Amino acid sequence: MEIQAPRGTYDILPPESRKWQYIERVIKETAERFGYSEVRFPIFEHTELFERGVGDTTDIVTKEMYTFIDKGGRSVTLRPEGTASCTRALIEHSIYSGPLPVKWYYNGPMFRYDRPAAGRYRQFHQFGVELFGSNNPYADVEVIQLLVKILENLGLKDYELHLNSVGCPQCRERYREKLVEHITPVKDQLCPDCQSRYAKNPLRVIDCKNPGCLEAIVGFPVLYDSLCDDCRQHYNTVQEGLTGQGIAYLHDNQLVRGLDYYTNTAFEIHLPQFGAASAVGGGGRYNGLVRFCGGPDLPGIGFAIGMERLLSAVERTGIDWEKDDLQVFVLVPDEHNRNIGLEICNILREAGVRTDQDYNGRSMKAQMKQANKRGARLVVIVGEDELAAGQFTIRDMVHKTQLTVPKEALLDRVKEILQ
Ligand code: AMP
Repeated sequence: MEIQAPRGTYDILPPESRKWQYIERVIKETAERFGYSEVRFPIFEHTELFERGVGDTTDIVTKEMYTFIDKGGRSVTLRPEGTASCTRALIEHSIYSGPLPVKWYYNGPMFRYDRPAAGRYRQFHQFGVELFGSNNPYADVEVIQLLVKILENLGLKDYELHLNSVGCPQCRERYREKLVEHITPVKDQLCPDCQSRYAKNPLRVIDCKNPGCLEAIVGFPVLYDSLCDDCRQHYNTVQEGLTGQGIAYLHDNQLVRGLDYYTNTAFEIHLPQFGAASAVGGGGRYNGLVRFCGGPDLPGIGFAIGMERLLSAVERTGIDWEKDDLQVFVLVPDEHNRNIGLEICNILREAGVRTDQDYNGRSMKAQMKQANKRGARLVVIVGEDELAAGQFTIRDMVHKTQLTVPKEALLDRVKEILQ
């Protein structure tokens, strides 16, 4: 029987996992410097949370959720994104009654039943942040600045930041009417999904994955023209703030979030070299979400980055990934000296040196070959003759030189050479 990983999933094996650790470290350090703390929430939640928190007209909820009935007869869903769970946790633990704003980040696998393609998986990873409890436009600026900083700290300079405002529910209701009026005469040209949802949620037609829908509604009225004074003021301040921070952006009328509780700022970051899958991350304000999920009237804003796309973008910069090469291979020719071999391994490991030895009963020659294959910089030989004299031989695999040192000097010499 041949068992393979399910379609749309994949394994992260060494040395690839080191690359993941590297980008995760850079991202977390950047977020921590911006005052965010990590939150961890369950991989699955009650299905209702996502139906409410993500929205029941979205592709995620209508087509892409991994939903099943558990043994207790409850409908549960593998998390397709992080914002709904963060909102649930914020409400469940009354975090909103503590100091505001609450600044959280998360990192982990998400699940969406989508057609796998380049840069699109069924299990993928997202890093995201949520800032709850401030409606100040400079909070929007700071959140966007964090997204940009993460990219820059990973050496990605050629990004495009797309920005729009989706206004408040009042602006959007005015806009919805205008948009429905524009779409109705061409509704037969839309995909079946858009035909059934355009009257209730015409914004979904603008960001439909099917390009024919956008072509059909060409010349559609833009949301910006329907913004009320407050929303326009908020958007202008965000733009001023970004400009003040030297962050370039493109105003993008097509960037919409079609749900009632998304408000004001919406943004996406693209890496144009990636073509169709160029969006590496996106987010926006969701001032209605906490209340919609049963909490107080608390504003919020956040974003999520797709880690697979980010990693392949970093890869393309030609980055010199941190080497995972073994530093020292401890060579033990005689089985009865195993304990001494392990002791040497432990001394080196305790001092932070990546050390390993053979466990397959290889001959001395084969162990030397093995050390070479593993990329070990040094080999410490625990030989019978050397031991009798209280000494060890250190072989430098790069310079092909050898020296003999007493046990007390071993660690210092190894560290010296490695430096
Ligand atoms: P979204 O929550 O849909 O705005 O997604 C945020 C980011 O997650 C996107 O910009 C992508 O980089 C990434 N993403 C979303 N869906 C997938 C997927 N199926 N496979 C890989 N990455 C994804």
